[in-house]
Amino acid sequence: MISVEEALERILSYVSVLEPEEKRILDALGQVLAEDVTSSIDIPPLDNTAMDGYAVRATDTAGATPERPVRLRVAGELAAGHLYEGEVEPGAAVRIMTGAPMPAGADAVVPFEETNESGTHAFGRFSKAVDSVLVCKAARPGDNVRQAAEDVCRGALVLGRGAVLRPAHVGILASLGRTTVRVVRRPVVAILSTGDELAQVGEPLRPGAIYDSNSRSVAAMVLQNGGIPRILGIARDTVEDLTAKIRQGLDADMLITSAGVSRGDYDVVKDVLAREGEVDFWTVRMKPGKPLAFGAFNSGQRRIPHIGLPGNPVSSMVTFELFGRPAVFKMMGKTRWQRPVIRATSEERIVNTDGRRVYARAVVTQRGGRYYASLTGPQGSGILTSMSLANALAIVPEDSPTVEPGEEVSVVMLEWSQGED
Ligand code: AMP
Ligand code: MG
Repeated sequence: MISVEEALERILSYVSVLEPEEKRILDALGQVLAEDVTSSIDIPPLDNTAMDGYAVRATDTAGATPERPVRLRVAGELAAGHLYEGEVEPGAAVRIMTGAPMPAGADAVVPFEETNESGTHAFGRFSKAVDSVLVCKAARPGDNVRQAAEDVCRGALVLGRGAVLRPAHVGILASLGRTTVRVVRRPVVAILSTGDELAQVGEPLRPGAIYDSNSRSVAAMVLQNGGIPRILGIARDTVEDLTAKIRQGLDADMLITSAGVSRGDYDVVKDVLAREGEVDFWTVRMKPGKPLAFGAFNSGQRRIPHIGLPGNPVSSMVTFELFGRPAVFKMMGKTRWQRPVIRATSEERIVNTDGRRVYARAVVTQRGGRYYASLTGPQGSGILTSMSLANALAIVPEDSPTVEPGEEVSVVMLEWSQGED
């Protein structure tokens, strides 16, 4: 038996970062930047006001208080997007709206709240034509002024290669005027279910059959983690069908099969995989998910990595979580795929019967500043509802026979939302 870590290391040694593509900035959300992004402009381009108010010469407001306000002549008005023609002269002020460039001569902005317009300025532009204004508070130079280039300087490196694009990054790219960006492309993951007992969703269920849930749950995990799933359907447990279906998946970046790797039907799958590529069958020291196949197929010059997940619905999801997800992340150019692992107090007894690492489906809740983990019910690897209730996997190490109620346990957080919605 090999450890989870060793299995992951071997799998990752077979997958590489994919090539870059040019995408529209919004469509690139979640992808990894494949270029260094520098700015050809200053942001903001000019000094501008952070408040609605009056642009003034700060020295003109010296000593102003509510009791002894200073009167300034209103020389004009300025909305965002416009430039003020002329200069603010001593004793004058320009009525100005947030974002408008500072008029020449002015060095501070007195917000409406600190003038006799307090409370009267409506949201409408220039709602009040006035000749003069009373300033009730002295301004210092720079007050309420946003400096040109305070966010981004022309020529600066704004986003570095390797960044995972989040909404703020998309906003930054837009603020630079970019419409497209170079990112590592998303992997296409071909997904094949195997088994004579499987029926396609949407078709009637003949006696003895069950619906193929694995291709959907695994495709959903591929999607959620940034890949592009391609469902190949169901292969029957025959050499011909399995061979034909596997070949259909060889133009993908990775092939995921489920089932056919446990002892019962090991042979037909083993024969086909061995003939079509180089595939190892592993027993990984974990529960659920002991049997796992891994290898690669050759298609022309390309080598397509293959992960053969176990058939049981929980096992296939947990093994995809531990091995498939990091592989997808690596192909996307991501370097960090570790989920947060926290320590929680177990509320139940969790048993480890045979020295494998147990990943128990758990609900983690926070009470009084502590985390607690309880199981989601029966832990059989066919019980998919136990997975749907879980927001975490509680880990019982290989060498611990049990975790008792009240003991601390390490927990991999799958979701940060707590419990059921
Ligand atoms: P196997 O690995 O082929 O022995 O399958 C293990 C168990 O998983 C069996 O009970 C199968 O019926 C079940 N199983 C296999 N493939 C799927 C699938 N695609 N969807 C749901 N259950 C499956
Ligand atoms: Mg089977």
